[in-house]
Amino acid sequence: MHFTYDTKQPRVVFGAGSIASLPEEMDRLDVRHILIVGTCGRSELFHRAAGLLGDRVAGTFDQAVVHVPEAIASRAIIAAATARADCILSVGGGSAIGVAKAIALTTLLPIVAVPTTYSGSEMTPVWGLTRDGVKQTGRDARVQPRTVIYDPELTFDLPPSVSAASGVNAVAHCVEALYAPDANPVTSWMAEEGIRALAESLRVIVQSPRDIEARTRAFYGAWLAGASLGSVQMGLQHKLAHVLGGSFDLPHAETHAVLLPYTAAYNAVAARDAMSIVARALGGADAPASLYDLGRALGTPASLAEIGMKEADLDRAADLAVERAYANPAPVTREGILSILQRAFAGQPLD
Ligand code: NAD
Repeated sequence: MHFTYDTKQPRVVFGAGSIASLPEEMDRLDVRHILIVGTCGRSELFHRAAGLLGDRVAGTFDQAVVHVPEAIASRAIIAAATARADCILSVGGGSAIGVAKAIALTTLLPIVAVPTTYSGSEMTPVWGLTRDGVKQTGRDARVQPRTVIYDPELTFDLPPSVSAASGVNAVAHCVEALYAPDANPVTSWMAEEGIRALAESLRVIVQSPRDIEARTRAFYGAWLAGASLGSVQMGLQHKLAHVLGGSFDLPHAETHAVLLPYTAAYNAVAARDAMSIVARALGGADAPASLYDLGRALGTPASLAEIGMKEADLDRAADLAVERAYANPAPVTREGILSILQRAFAGQPLD
């Protein structure tokens, strides 16, 4: 066994009602001019945070959208400067956290994250920015949130479809963490436990969105998934999701959910041990088939066609996905990628 584990994780405050600790957490960072960042239409979350922080709120920015387009990032940076912000508070899912990271990348302001979906960005130093139709991603410790507050009560109104898709996105972090070249026993334990917690809780949430036990367990899984994503390298699944999202404007979490069984099938032979752990965590015999079944049980989209991909664009997507080398257990070839995309486009059943 050989590994290097260099981890610096955010402070995590976890549990129902933990949003109440927001003022105390801001005191710990000694900040007084806070810019609240989120997505449009989530005013109840903004009001909740603003009510707790009082005159420490220096401004709000509610224009965050998926994939962080450069123009939105620029407006957010101006909002932070106008507010003379000394801290960014993201309240929302990966889109809100993505914009907070884009601000931090140029201003170096600290981020406090109050996540309200399961996509996991709050735990990572990974940033993304979409410029001229291409999504760039990178790692920079300075954009990793300082503090993360997981309050499951804030997710009661998260629609079952968003809960399921963002939750399967988190499962995708765990699957790729299990076969990452820099995995270690701790990250592998987190990834397996994350898959188990997410799969079990999401099945309850899609039926009973206000079940506090399931909401709590899903955040527990999302925390582990985000911590896995933040600690090790991702492979083909994440590369394809970024290409399809950044260049073809597909929705991020749903794209992950469609692709996951097919990238797992592609890597099944090369990552046999990882796949047996995935199957064990899902209580199935075969990882790709169990992932496919999980998607159907949760009602996530089954095909790329369903979420707006055009068949004529599959070739270009395959070209873009092979442009730069990245770690993946099975060799990455253009033909291989095209076959994944074709199967995912059709939503071909796996059994
Ligand atoms: P999202 O943040 O776009 O949210 C999806 C929808 O749910 C939005 O309409 C939002 O307003 C709504 N919503 C959020 N919280 C809600 C709540 N509590 N109640 C009701 N509605 C709510 O979705 P996401 O999947 O979390 O984030 C996707 C983005 O995150 C992508 O840009 C992706 O690249 C990024 N991401 C980044 C990382 C990373 O480590 N950098 C990891 C995962 C995802």
